[in-house]
Amino acid sequence: MTTYFNYPSKELQDELRDIAQRIVAPGKGILAADESGPTMGKRLQDIGVENTEDNRRAYRQLLFSTDPKLAENISGVILFHETLYQKADDGTPFADILKKKGIILGIKVDKGVVPLFGSEDEVTTQGLDDLAARCAQYKKDGCDFAKWRCVLKIGKNTPSYQSILENANVLARYASICQSQRIVPIVEPEVLPDGDHDLDRAQKVTETVLAAVYKALSDHHVYLEGTLLKPNMVTAGQSAKKNTPEEIALATVQALRRTVPAAVTGVTFLSGGQSEEEATVNLSAINNVPLIRPWALTFSYGRALQASVLRAWAGKKENIAAGQNELLKRAKANGEAACGNYTAGSVKGFAGKDTLHVDDHKPIPRPARVFTCPAQFRRLPAMPTSLSPSTSTKS
Ligand code: 13P
Repeated sequence: MTTYFNYPSKELQDELRDIAQRIVAPGKGILAADESGPTMGKRLQDIGVENTEDNRRAYRQLLFSTDPKLAENISGVILFHETLYQKADDGTPFADILKKKGIILGIKVDKGVVPLFGSEDEVTTQGLDDLAARCAQYKKDGCDFAKWRCVLKIGKNTPSYQSILENANVLARYASICQSQRIVPIVEPEVLPDGDHDLDRAQKVTETVLAAVYKALSDHHVYLEGTLLKPNMVTAGQSAKKNTPEEIALATVQALRRTVPAAVTGVTFLSGGQSEEEATVNLSAINNVPLIRPWALTFSYGRALQASVLRAWAGKKENIAAGQNELLKRAKANGEAACGNYTAGSVKGFAGKDTLHVDDHKPIPRPARVFTCPAQFRRLPAMPTSLSPSTSTKS
């Protein structure tokens, strides 16, 4: 084994780090609008709209032509290939509309999951073969960051060593290819929330997966300052008893502190199976955990930024403004949460309780405000390993 390698040039390091830092600027996060054709079909079916290319275009036009103040809280948008090359009704490319608002373009570059033979229904993600060429083209076409999602499942025997190692390695290979083409990789190892496991099990699995991911990124000489991590929050399985936001936040921050190097510029959580309100409340609680957090902790939400937008729009021209208003409200709420300043229940979504998960825990008293934005740069002496009963309400 040799430890010889070349660091990227200073210019490349500066470019990558600058993109990553702009994405996670205080109070800002990512709108993940990169649903594939079939996934978008499910979202449109929910509101009775046919899954045609033009309906997908009309919906993305609604999102991207939202008032420019959207950019106060949305620094980047992740697009699907089709969307990057679509245009608004007046012929303006979507890419130009977003860039004019100062929003950074991202692109989903993975080609979806395939089974891992011999495993218990586990998967890996494909798309490496032509990735360098695709990244080079996307960079020319205005994209500065990319996303690649890997999926890990919690079961009695899973995630297996096979899937942990394979997914860590494919994420590292993807990240190094992106960086070679001046694109910031968002590294997304999603531990799915399906199951009845408790918070401890979710935390330990998340820690094991993240430790493997950062070992692989190191082996592949990935320049960490020019990356972002997109993990799941640590939550109990969806069929298990819910924890309080403070419990989820502590488990999540502990898992990150044990595994994610301080050099990583930011963590942009996915919303997974959470409702809009849950995802916002949990992010705010994460930014209030009284532990040193050396990275920005913000959002890269798909469903938790779009559920209300879709419902308000319902495919009707006359509802476009209402849909855009929902997007602005939710983006602002998550911008506050990224600074630890969101007050639970203060922003009501159009999707309402219908899309909220059954919320069986009592209202949580707000913890004392310890941080102001940017929370990630503050250091606190105390490092509790668990929350005292007085600061956490059990469900
Ligand atoms: P959700 O926030 O809906 O989980 O989606 C984010 C995403 O991009 C998943 O890959």
